Amino acid sequence: MVNTAALKDFLNAQLPNAVEMLRQMVGINSFTANRDGVNRLGKFTAECFVPLGFTAETVPAANREFGDHLMLTRRGRSAKNIAMLSHLDTVFPPEEEAQNNFHWQPEGDRIYGPGTQDIKGGTAMMWLVLAAFRARAPKVFEEITWKLFWNSAEERFSPDFGEVCRSRFDRDTLAALVFEAEGRLGEEHLLVLARKGRASWRVSVAGRGAHAGGKHNHGANAIVQLGHAIQRIAALTDYSRQLTFNVGTITGGTVLNRVPHEAVAEGEFRAFTPEVCAQAKAALLALAGPGEVRSPADRFACEVKVELVSESRPWPRNPGTDRLFGFWKQAGEELGIPTGCEERGGLSDGNLIWDAVPTLDGLGPWGDNDHCSERSADGSKLPEFVEVGTFVPKALLNTVAILKVTQDSSFK
Ligand SMILES: [Zn+2]
Repeated sequence: MVNTAALKDFLNAQLPNAVEMLRQMVGINSFTANRDGVNRLGKFTAECFVPLGFTAETVPAANREFGDHLMLTRRGRSAKNIAMLSHLDTVFPPEEEAQNNFHWQPEGDRIYGPGTQDIKGGTAMMWLVLAAFRARAPKVFEEITWKLFWNSAEERFSPDFGEVCRSRFDRDTLAALVFEAEGRLGEEHLLVLARKGRASWRVSVAGRGAHAGGKHNHGANAIVQLGHAIQRIAALTDYSRQLTFNVGTITGGTVLNRVPHEAVAEGEFRAFTPEVCAQAKAALLALAGPGEVRSPADRFACEVKVELVSESRPWPRNPGTDRLFGFWKQAGEELGIPTGCEERGGLSDGNLIWDAVPTLDGLGPWGDNDHCSERSADGSKLPEFVEVGTFVPKALLNTVAILKVTQDSSFK
């Protein structure tokens, strides 16, 4: 087993290099729609890992408006391989960064800046862990084939990235490790073992327009009908099954002297298991058909149309993930780092791959306020930050746990 004191010393010594790497990454705007910026970050990321012996490959995203996915591989002596995942993109357009003066800004143990926590800090964590393997566990480092993947459009949930990963996994892939930020509960470091699936939907009502003064009773009011439909949709939320429906937007009508002939609402629903997702979908689709709002003149009925716009499957709790988490739990006990787990409502690339390879998420450092770029004078609004002090303990935990994965012959 590795000498953990020496490993910790090594990580402490390397931390400034990891932070400098992160500083340069945060300095490159990689908003999902900023194709050039994402590709520039991909190139810089590849350069960071080349000294560790990695070679780069890029794959165009299915949506050509996005940058390229990045893959780095280091062939080991054995076919046993470990996959690590991160993403290149952030949610902040360059104009927003400029407007909010949101940039690399160290303050005590925190560093504020776009992507510090989600997820460039996770990429820096990957580098720290691999550098530690090379220096302190060189035999295992040389034996394992390391496959690193960066999604160019994770924040827009680019499903083709799942195929990019899955086509490169094989039966010797021991684990897929996702470096999104960790959760916290008091002192406990929380890893992510499940994530909700999400579907977005659109409900459109076709009514019948009429003059609101002269022929009011001829109209079938699409907005009134949609009002009924969205009440039913909101009532589908069932916290006891961790199913949530959100009506996100609503539009309808044109001018005030018309009975409106159309109205549209859009939203999403989320749940942890395929069964609950399937039931939610069925209940939503059942709302389609003639509505109860009719014109008094001739009983003309509003028509309700329901469309599923996008569907991302859930990542439910499963034995492969639970077993993988066991190595982190055990490593945490040995190192005196309290390690727990959580199930998250937000999606990650873990949703795309968990059923192909045992997958664990939340391996990045800790930070907070992801997806926020604003800072208010009274401090009630703070932008995204990462806590620098969380890098070394988490890198130590990750390194020792990954060693356990590689040394457990029964694993998989
Ligand atoms: Zn992320």
